[in-house]
Amino acid sequence: MTGASSGIGEAAARHLARQGAAVAVLARRAERLEALAGAIRAEGGRALVIGADVTGREAALEAVERTVRDLGRLDTVINNAGVMLLGPAEEAPLEEWERMVSLNVQGLLYVAHAALPHLLRAAADSPRGVADLVNVSSVAGRVARAGSAVYNLTKFGVTAFSEALRQEVAGRHLRVAVVEPGAVETELASHLRPEVRGMMQQRFGHIERLQAEDIADAITYIVTRPRHMAINELLVRPTEQV
Ligand code: NDP
Repeated sequence: MTGASSGIGEAAARHLARQGAAVAVLARRAERLEALAGAIRAEGGRALVIGADVTGREAALEAVERTVRDLGRLDTVINNAGVMLLGPAEEAPLEEWERMVSLNVQGLLYVAHAALPHLLRAAADSPRGVADLVNVSSVAGRVARAGSAVYNLTKFGVTAFSEALRQEVAGRHLRVAVVEPGAVETELASHLRPEVRGMMQQRFGHIERLQAEDIADAITYIVTRPRHMAINELLVRPTEQV
């Protein structure tokens, strides 16, 4: 589970641990992961903490290898770590664009590339007879809007990559799914510049946003389907979001 130190990833790690999964929780803030792992263990679950930055290809590879080494196999990957730095393209800090591309696209690809051989092996050999790669995209991966150009670019990319890869590996019982949340109450918007945060507040401030648990629930649904059934894409908006 990448991006497990807060928000959707943290909630989904808890949900999957409750379903009996041994969970490797990955993010940069290791102390938050330790707290999460402690809570999972207190409920009788199994958790491995991996403090890593997946924008480094070696770090992503090492994280995957360590997971397999310590937990025995890798049959489910939730590629969730992401950053959303919105604002008009004109005069946007280029550093924000670089951060989104390096995490939402490159980081996700590094994890997927490192995990693929293990997932395919698990699909063939594990008791479940199926494996899952779930990529967290966004409504922004389906609908482009002014003020979101590069975030749109990264999330459209995640959606496209997921579908193409799905076709390549479906016959070998590796399910590739994409989850597309609407507005969820997490730390994601806390990285926005203050003027952009105001814009977001105007757009979403009046609606009841999703909770991280709602998306954790959707992810759990995807990875607990029977072997013959694959949820390819799940678009989940708050009821009032247009
Ligand atoms: P959060 O900001 O709460 O979580 C983001 C997670 O990514 C954190 O655990 C963060 O941990 C981790 N992360 C950030 N940078 C890196 C890195 N370089 N390497 C490893 N981990 C990293 O946001 P959400 O839970 O909302 O976001 C999760 C996903 O959901 C993202 O892909 C986002 O785009 C997507 N999404 C969210 C929506 C929302 O409204 N919240 C809507 C649609 C999609 P740390 O800082 O410790 O590394």
